[in-house]
Amino acid sequence: MKSDNYRIEDSIYTKDTGKYGKSLFAKRDFLKDELVFIAYGPLVTTATLYTIPVSAELKIDPTQPEGNLSQYICHSCDPNLGIKNRTCFVAFKDIKRDEEITIDYAMIGYEYADEIAETGRTCMCGSPICRGKWGCYKELSNELKEKYKGYLSEWLV
Ligand SMILES: [Zn+2]
Repeated sequence: MKSDNYRIEDSIYTKDTGKYGKSLFAKRDFLKDELVFIAYGPLVTTATLYTIPVSAELKIDPTQPEGNLSQYICHSCDPNLGIKNRTCFVAFKDIKRDEEITIDYAMIGYEYADEIAETGRTCMCGSPICRGKWGCYKELSNELKEKYKGYLSEWLV
């Protein structure tokens, strides 16, 4: 893949879920392990609800530039995406066109900043295996660490 030709809009789009605001959806079928999108944005040091950590200190702010689709990635306790390196969102299982794409936030972030209150983490994924709130690596069970092996942001492991 030539990065100068990369356009995130070729792979994903946003739609209102009617449950928890906008989310991302697949523009085509993806096979397990295929790259779905690369998150991008300026590096910042302050966490928000949207930031994507890439190290213990640095995060990507996906709300910049305006219209950046990476900011709409939602959490699910039964995700169909994982993460390779620190910013490459790949299919954790086969994904069909127009399927909602989600990641377990525990695959990206170690813990939540104080600014993000416990109440802000209520999960509405609706999965039978929902853990009730958005994940973080710190709280991940050994069983899930094993399940997600190879799909966790590289700075966490
Ligand atoms: Zn959930």
